[in-house]
Amino acid sequence: MSCLKPENNAPADTSPHGLDFNPVDVMQPRNPGQTPKAYKNGGRVKSNDVAPKGMYVPNYNILTPNMRSPEYVQMSTAAAITLGIMGGKMYRCSCTRCLNLLLTYPEGCRANCAYCGLARHRESERDYADRNFIRVDWPAVPIDQAVDIVAADGENTPFHRMCISMITHPNSDQDTVTVLKKWTDRIAPETVPVSILSNPTTMERADVEQLHDLGADIFTVALDAVTPDIFDRTRGSGVQSPHSWKKYWEIMNDARDIFGHDKFGAHIIIGMGETEYEALSLVQQLTDIGGQSHMFCFFPEKGSLMDHLPATPRDQWRRVQLGRYLIHFCGQRIDHMTFDEQGRVIDFGLPKSEVDTIIDAGIAFRTSGCPGKFRDDVSACDRPYGDSPPSDIASYPFQPNKKDIRKFRRQLGMPKHTN
Ligand code: SF4
Repeated sequence: MSCLKPENNAPADTSPHGLDFNPVDVMQPRNPGQTPKAYKNGGRVKSNDVAPKGMYVPNYNILTPNMRSPEYVQMSTAAAITLGIMGGKMYRCSCTRCLNLLLTYPEGCRANCAYCGLARHRESERDYADRNFIRVDWPAVPIDQAVDIVAADGENTPFHRMCISMITHPNSDQDTVTVLKKWTDRIAPETVPVSILSNPTTMERADVEQLHDLGADIFTVALDAVTPDIFDRTRGSGVQSPHSWKKYWEIMNDARDIFGHDKFGAHIIIGMGETEYEALSLVQQLTDIGGQSHMFCFFPEKGSLMDHLPATPRDQWRRVQLGRYLIHFCGQRIDHMTFDEQGRVIDFGLPKSEVDTIIDAGIAFRTSGCPGKFRDDVSACDRPYGDSPPSDIASYPFQPNKKDIRKFRRQLGMPKHTN
């Protein structure tokens, strides 16, 4: 039984460094350690070679089965609860609208991104299928079982979208194709469209074309870092990881050509040392080329190389959430906004009444991602508590209420005066 509910931790509104944003000098990952040879490349799981028997829920007290995509995929705890294969309740939301599937291999992801719970440096400490990712466990399930359940539900499925998350592994390009085919053979794209969260490092333009031709609807690139320097420090040579900013942009531009306007985009993590001006400049750049921007609030993932660092102060996060919404959905431009000498937004460049209306609607503060069936600015991918504890929600996986909106106003320093 799983329960995603509030913890008794103090809210993270104030940061240990005393600022209302995460400055670059604080946000430095620690160095990855050495992994004993026997633990490298999934050595422990492969030498034990325990045969999987259906669903596997992460459990550090039993030997991890030898599971491999495309036969097996992992899914978020929220998706497993919604699919009905795991018990549990989620704080203030009854289900998730996105079935996030993650490719799985005993060797795991071969990259070493500093903020990520799936990173390679964890080989010695935890088998891949047992690692926490965006704060939750990811049970492993036979792909055929997941497809059977969604196909049987037909139009009544609670899912508005499915997403295949590739990882950095030599088989992930081919296995993504197999998983996509298994899905589209049984489930119509109009019923549950498919997004691809890509791994550009192993991909070429022809791979992007193939996924489009096979019926994928949206293609995103997990750029994650806002600037080339932060990219290199957190997921490139700074942490012995293979990714490059240039390659990520190459594949994003291929996706722009192939998938077209509003059918491609980037994931961006806020609070890893970039300024608000830099973050919103990237949102503007993506919007100008017809792309989406899906934002995540930095959270110190347990076991990652950044687990000693502060979560993004909510003040910074709310300003960037609101700025992104105004740029992407309301036609506002960054050159009409004003920033202070530390790159913080001090004016969104619109009449107060217009900004008030957007804040009070609350949608700007919901989780951002690929859209579902409700409206374009409401994401199917709601990732319940993927970037914060329920006690201090960063991305709202449900419609915020009046009390939540009063809290956003306090965090934004924009209280509503009634007179
Ligand atoms: S490539 Fe993705 S899954 Fe792999 S370590 Fe980096 S962020 Fe995590």
